[in-house]
Amino acid sequence: MTARAVESQTILVVGGGIAGITAAVEAADTGYDVVLVEKTATLGGRVAQLNRYFPKLCHPTCGLEINYQRIRGNPKIRVFTLATVTAITGARGSYKATIATSPRYVSGRCTACGECAKAATSRIPNPFNYGMDTVAAAYLPHPMAYPMRYVVAPDVIGTPEAEAIRAACKYDAIDLEEKPKTFELAVGAVIWASGWKPYDADKLESYGYGRVPNVITNVEMERLAAPGGPSQGRIVRPSDGRQAKRVALIQCAGSRDYNHLPYCSRICCLGSMKHAAYVREQYADAEVDIYYIDIRAHDKLESFYGKLKADPQVHFIKSKPASITAGENGDPVLHGENTLTRELYDRGYDLVVLATGMQPSLTEAAPAIKLVTDDYGFIVPELGDEDGMFAAGVASGPLDVSMSVQSATAAVLKAIQAVRVNGAQARGGQA
Ligand SMILES: Cc1cc2nc3c(=O)[nH]c(=O)nc-3n(C[C@H](O)[C@H](O)[C@H](O)COP(=O)(O)OP(=O)(O)OC[C@H]3O[C@@H](n4cnc5c(N)ncnc54)[C@H](O)[C@@H]3O)c2cc1C
Repeated sequence: MTARAVESQTILVVGGGIAGITAAVEAADTGYDVVLVEKTATLGGRVAQLNRYFPKLCHPTCGLEINYQRIRGNPKIRVFTLATVTAITGARGSYKATIATSPRYVSGRCTACGECAKAATSRIPNPFNYGMDTVAAAYLPHPMAYPMRYVVAPDVIGTPEAEAIRAACKYDAIDLEEKPKTFELAVGAVIWASGWKPYDADKLESYGYGRVPNVITNVEMERLAAPGGPSQGRIVRPSDGRQAKRVALIQCAGSRDYNHLPYCSRICCLGSMKHAAYVREQYADAEVDIYYIDIRAHDKLESFYGKLKADPQVHFIKSKPASITAGENGDPVLHGENTLTRELYDRGYDLVVLATGMQPSLTEAAPAIKLVTDDYGFIVPELGDEDGMFAAGVASGPLDVSMSVQSATAAVLKAIQAVRVNGAQARGGQA
């Protein structure tokens, strides 16, 4: 490897999901300065939006809160929320990153008392619940937000409502004049932990998402089952609030399909089994049908599959449904063929859940930065010893939480190697 001068030993982590948070705390605990940049108003990423997560079906609070405490207790980590990286120039050991921040309109004086939300008169779609309900135009992103600080929706800035929100704050924390900012940082290595977004179910025309009532996606199912979700955790039909006791879960909705996502997202089968468990826990008389091409329950999670298979009210049907149409009383009706029995079916349900796959989130929003990606847009984890950019978590390919954490720790080791080259020359060198 060519020796390079290291001008900054700071590690930049892009993305504040479980992978980025892990990378930040591991690097900082090793003694390195870390800048963690998250584009939304809070850390936590998609894991915060899960109701519970396998293998143990814990609430996301378990893992996230421990990490938040580590961030709070480590002055080496600087967190920027509502922030993105718009450019990176330079080379391993001496990058210059341009960070752009959007206004939150709420300063660090916020105590999360909620008086601003009471003063807001308009509502916006709730991004945390994938728009399945609304929040006041001054809102806390979610109960586990980090930082625990409200946001004022840009939609109301410049209106009398914004002034009422400001007046309601006893702590003088509302700053309606806040402007977008751009600044530069010197960093020695970059870890991309920008994660994933759900495949757009609107593209699955034959499944009628958005057109046929009571067809939802797997990420929406997580929110439907969550206590902070649009129905306070009751698994009910969006169209009429009726209990959803006959539930179909469709695997590979758009995945392993050259018209959509050609690859397997690895997690969806287990995600749907988790959804079957949610339904069965809630309704003793529920019947759940899982339509699959073939089940992929990786490594030790095979036992979770075994548990679900043993439940006489959970049925695994080998079939990729051809289409979904609107039936009577808001029932979505599945049409297709069971490929084992050759039976043709037209079956109505209370609720149908599409297990859509995970897509890299940077595919469309990539800043003007040279990143090496694979055929599907996932960032190639190690870009070679000459480069100081690495990928962690689902930014590098479909992974579960424990794999994301492992990949983040591995990325930190590579980043430390990048900033330690010629460490003796580094400013404030920790070599
Ligand atoms: C339906 C479903 C259920 C699942 N259930 C489980 C489960 O039970 N157990 C389990 O182990 N796994 C589960 N998973 C997988 C789990 O969600 C992922 O492993 C996890 O989200 C990966 O974390 P991450 O940090 O890599 O990505 P993310 O959670 O996507 O976090 C990435 C973060 O980066 C931010 N970001 C994106 N782009 C930028 C940018 N340009 N600049 C700054 N920030 C950016 C995002 O806002 C986000 O906060 C499930 C997945 C699905 C689809």
